[in-house]
Formats: sequence, structure tokens, C-alpha cells
Amino acid sequence: MKMIGNKNLFTCSAALLLSVMIAGCATTTKQPSVSTKKDAYLKDICDRNNVSWNWDQVSRVVTLRYRGIEAKVLVGSDLVLIGDDRVTLSAPTSTVRSAVIVPPDFSDKVIKNLRRRAGRRKGYVFAKVRSIIIDAGHGGKDPGAIGRGGLQEKGVALDICKRLKRLLVKNGFKIQMTRDSDRFISLKGRTEIASRANADLFISIHANAAPSRSVYGFETYSAKDLGFIDRIATQRKLNEDLMFSNLSIKNNATDVERIVSDMMYEHKQAESKLLARQIAGKTARLLKTKNRGAKRERFFVLRNTLIPAILVEVGFLSNSKEEKLLKTKAYRKKIAESLAKSILEYANGE
Ligand SMILES: [Zn+2]
Repeated sequence: MKMIGNKNLFTCSAALLLSVMIAGCATTTKQPSVSTKKDAYLKDICDRNNVSWNWDQVSRVVTLRYRGIEAKVLVGSDLVLIGDDRVTLSAPTSTVRSAVIVPPDFSDKVIKNLRRRAGRRKGYVFAKVRSIIIDAGHGGKDPGAIGRGGLQEKGVALDICKRLKRLLVKNGFKIQMTRDSDRFISLKGRTEIASRANADLFISIHANAAPSRSVYGFETYSAKDLGFIDRIATQRKLNEDLMFSNLSIKNNATDVERIVSDMMYEHKQAESKLLARQIAGKTARLLKTKNRGAKRERFFVLRNTLIPAILVEVGFLSNSKEEKLLKTKAYRKKIAESLAKSILEYANGE
């Protein structure tokens, strides 16, 4: 980590680790002139708008606060996180001595957004999710589970996904499908689509099979917390690179990428868990089937997607009653409708 200015403040690395938070108006350094007219000092913009700020120089994250709403500015990158929103600036933020410099669109994209959110806080919940990737499990040479009556998981999943897409599009969501026909896509390919798309949510649809034919019901999965090895796994890294290629990250790039990666991971884990629980409960209730709950697994598509991701098992093809139900358009339509309703409520923060 590079320290900028205030060198005498810290005498040992312990003190450095414990206390490099520079808060509010604590910087006393005389402000150097800004390189271009349009760029501005973050401090000035914050002061003008009554936004408090706190710069953690170790993580190089500036946290802005306005009436309980927080934004995180990753110094050295063009990324700002406002609540669950990722805002991309026209240029990366930078530092001149110990002052943070922001590009011209910062006021419009970040400060106005913060103030708008603060204003709407009472009685209005803004959407958490606008763009969703729907992933129909299996496909092509991979049929997935097959019921005793011959019903294949790949077809059930695709049909429900198409219906779900139509319903969500009607409700104003932007939807991308990993496949919209009976074709094979590798798990790797699915996670790469999710990383390129700049979406808010990834939902994978499957149908279950169990050795015991009496097992039935609806369940959801989110990713288990990842260990160090999982976090540095090749596919995850590749997907991070795909995602980060949308961002322009300048100096201290590895630091910034690590921070963005950590923040996104924390956000993803928390949201996925919450969503899996809500979807399982609400959808099972609407479908009048057994709720087998929200579980956590090391599924590849969950482990290697960087946005909140869940996997839905709509029913068991190994259970003859559920296979018969899944064979009917009416039941698949009902599943799609129930899922759409649950997703909508989650997206609206209900
Ligand atoms: Zn499956």
C-alpha cells in the first residue's frame, strides 16, 4: 500500500493498520491545482452537498454518507457502489497528494443519486434488481434428470424459463437467457455469460431427482461461503476479469480489483441467501407444494458467478406425481408465475 502525505503521522505498521481513516475535513494539506477544469475535488463536492465522507487509505475506499444512505467510491477506479447499485463514472477517480479528484459526471451520477435515494426513503422502496439472467439447466446432449415417464429436465427447465422471461419482461425487467433453445452450454459458458452481462441477478432453473421416489417439493440453493481456494479458482478469476474489463481501473489496479471483488462477494453472498429463502418460501406457498427450504451448496454456477445467484429446483422428476404435474403446461405456467411474483417482491424490497 502506498501512503500519500502525512508520513509523520504513523510510526509503525500497527498504527498504520489501525488508524489510517481520514475523516470529514481532517485533511490539512493545501489543495494542489486540479489538472483539468472539469475534474473536481471530492471534498468540495461533498461539502457543498452536506455529504459526509470518510477515506480509508488502506482499502482506498471513500465512504460517502447522506441521511443514512451510503456510497462507496473506489479510488483509482471508475466504479462507485451506491447501495446495491454499481455506477460507472466517465473516468477513474484519482488522487493528487492526499486529495481525491473525481470526474465531471460525479455530481450527477453519485451525489444526485444519493440525495434522490435519501428523499425517497420514506414510503418508497426503489428496485434492487432491474436486469436478470435466467439460466435453463442442462440442454442439448445433456438431458439432466429423466423421469420414469420419460420427461427430461432440460425441456422442463427451458419451458419454465421462457415463461418466466415473458412475465418478467412484462414487468419491466431486462432479461437475458443463457440458452433459449435445446442446446448444450457448458457450466463455464453460463458463468461467463453472467459475468459479461452486467446484470443484477442470476437464476438457474432445474428439476430434481432423488433415489427415493417418495421425495417431492420445491427447493432453492445459494452458494456456500467460499474458501480461499474457491475464491482464487481459475474460472472465478476469469469471470472477474470479464466483469472488470467493463471498468476502467488505473493505478493500484490489483488493490482496487481485490476490494471490488470482496465487496461484490459480500453483497452476493448476503443477497443470494436472502433471495433463496424468500423464493423457496413464497413460491412453494403459491404452488401449494412442500417447501424443502433454502440450501447451500458448492454448485459451479453459484460458486463462479459474481452477482447474487440462486439455483431453483422446481420439483422431482423421480416422484411420479410431480413428474405428471411437470408434464402439464398448466403447472409449468403456475411455477413461472409463482417465481415471477416472488422475484418481483424481492426486487421491490418486499
Ligand atoms: Zn439440473
